[in-house]
Amino acid sequence: MAVIVQKYGGSSVADVQKLRHVAGRVMRARQLGHDVVVVVSAMGDTTDDLLELARQVTPSPDRRELDMLLSAGERISMALLSMAIRELGGQAISFTGSQSGIITNDRHTDARIIEVRPYRIQDELARGSIVVVAGYQGVSYRKEVTTLGRGGSDTTAVALAAALDAEYCEICSDVDGVYSADPRVVPTARRIGTLSYEETQEMAASGAKVLNAQAVEFAKEKGIAIYARATQGALPGADPASDGTVVRRSPPRLPGTVVGVASERDILVLDASAPAGHVLALLEERAVSGKQLHIFGGRTTIVVSRENLHDEAGLRVALQARLGDTAHLVDGLGAVSVVGAGINATYANVRAGDAALAGLGLTPAGTATSSFRITWLIGREQIADAARTLHQRFIDSTGPLLPDEP
Ligand code: ADP
Ligand code: ASP
Ligand code: MG
Repeated sequence: MAVIVQKYGGSSVADVQKLRHVAGRVMRARQLGHDVVVVVSAMGDTTDDLLELARQVTPSPDRRELDMLLSAGERISMALLSMAIRELGGQAISFTGSQSGIITNDRHTDARIIEVRPYRIQDELARGSIVVVAGYQGVSYRKEVTTLGRGGSDTTAVALAAALDAEYCEICSDVDGVYSADPRVVPTARRIGTLSYEETQEMAASGAKVLNAQAVEFAKEKGIAIYARATQGALPGADPASDGTVVRRSPPRLPGTVVGVASERDILVLDASAPAGHVLALLEERAVSGKQLHIFGGRTTIVVSRENLHDEAGLRVALQARLGDTAHLVDGLGAVSVVGAGINATYANVRAGDAALAGLGLTPAGTATSSFRITWLIGREQIADAARTLHQRFIDSTGPLLPDEP
């Protein structure tokens, strides 16, 4: 029997009624003859609530203790879902990340999966059980519980799909696929039927929450097809791109084709005139991840997402103590990106975006490009307007821009 992996996000398991709906959907997949592994996130806002509790205790929570705390969220939903499936007459068993054989490095709160040893899952599937796995967590070689960074249940699902040689990995959420922008922010955003791994990875890394960037990276490495779908919707039919998004290896689009706009509101920009080596060493010691590193003319800038930065207070103290006035964190900015393969083949797309933002009265604090992305750093309060305007410019009105368009 073919194994399939289904992942249900926090909003899909937010209360008992929703858990029952998920149990019914899982049972339908089982009745179709699949071996089913289900990965669940913590219920609703549980992870945020647990983080808030930690913050009430200390502004600088210890990362190991945070992992002990945060991993509890998914443990609750795995047990409840397993009970709900049993209530419907199914045979189910729940496992933590550690019991599922998810081995990670020891970078607490932002760990990476190194290896998956899914023996217990395989034994239970062979016994005919539906296996429910707590997402977002694993265990290090030192036998410490770890978590995989925010949105990490997607990564659990894809890693298990790869280890179990699954037919596909279904990521079920409150939205029926990957859209050309966050539909909550851009009302004219459209669902995209098929995306390449590279396009999806870039959308995710630029802030599109619907799929986790590391999960897409895994899927690409192992050639796993991801079906992003609505929990409320049907099981995948013959054409899963017709009512969801399929992410797989796909032929390149015309270079310069814009697939989407993604944004991230909560970032900090580290701007330093201190030697780059000192800056990076400090970030490394404190396990602070950054992106868009830029070193030029004696200045180092790097963008840090607040999402996985749980000890900002400690970082500020360390920066001041070690680098003094030669490094500071710029707050108040967000990032908005336009994504598509070959997007910066010429300057046309950057100029078109600049002009659109200028029309809103915005002067970006910074711009960065890669072959898949153009990112503008602008005031956090203007991010939503900027996303709507860029979507309008690149997707709604003109359709995709060709690279040689003025
Ligand atoms: P889950 O709890 O199911 O993992 P998330 O909140 O992590 O769900 O991701 C789903 C949300 O991602 C949607 O509700 C939507 O607002 C947001 N989102 C952001 N960008 C996109 C996009 N490009 N396409 C679809 N949804 C997006
Ligand atoms: N519960 C975790 C989070 O909120 C993991 C996830 O939902 O994927 O980030
Ligand atoms: Mg998510």
